[in-house]
Amino acid sequence: MDYILYILIFFIGALCGSFITLAVYRIPLKQDITHTHSYCPQCNHKLGFFDLIPIFSYIFLRGRCRYCKKKIKPTSFLIEILTGVIFVLFAASIKLSLFTTSLSTLIYFIIGLIYITILLIILGIDKKYIKVDKSALIIGFICVTAYLIYLYITERPIDISMYRYVIYLVIACFLVLFSVIYLKKKGKDSYTIDVLMLSIFMILYTYEAVYIYTVMITLIAVALQLIINNILKRKKNSKYVKGIKIENAKIPIVFYMGVANLIALLITNFTIFYI
Ligand SMILES: [Zn+2]
Repeated sequence: MDYILYILIFFIGALCGSFITLAVYRIPLKQDITHTHSYCPQCNHKLGFFDLIPIFSYIFLRGRCRYCKKKIKPTSFLIEILTGVIFVLFAASIKLSLFTTSLSTLIYFIIGLIYITILLIILGIDKKYIKVDKSALIIGFICVTAYLIYLYITERPIDISMYRYVIYLVIACFLVLFSVIYLKKKGKDSYTIDVLMLSIFMILYTYEAVYIYTVMITLIAVALQLIINNILKRKKNSKYVKGIKIENAKIPIVFYMGVANLIALLITNFTIFYI
């Protein structure tokens, strides 16, 4: 019976993947992500119900818009598949099963899907613009806080160490207020504070151990990126990559952190539940 559950989870992942593509495209352009109808970016034609079915619509229309017949970039299609795969891996990593999974694991799983979706939106926007979207982060904080309150109510007699989360949440509130009220008024944006806020968001859901692995993987990825930048600089004997001066090219640290966090979360869960 469980394989039906996993197919369903894959499809939920594909739907979220479709939403992620939309959010990453629209949020930086300050467009509405929940009410405005989806449209073809080339001919602006509104998309019908069948055009919105993830994965299948792309396959049936052979990667072309139904209305203007122009090719659609496969990015969205690939992100839908990738998100589906990540959701299935996450379910498998905690041995999700119809009959044996407890209620608390199920709630951990559902919050996890929201967590992964928000994380993917944040890292997608960062990869494109080297910028962290505060609204997505704040929604993430609200979801994780609700989850922590649930944990506090249900597991209070067992786990006293939960009080450290109060400290994390206070720091997070301070950083959010500082960034949204003070920095925004001055028209500034601090990437360092964004990275700190994201770090607390990660610790709140994935615990400290996973966060330490996340930082380690991120450092390796950033080091590799720097080495590659250097090689490109020497090989092409040019100071520019894709029109950007290499020395000025910023590294999307949040993007690397997000990917590293997902890998660390999956590996840790697999080791906890299988070994
Ligand atoms: Zn079109």
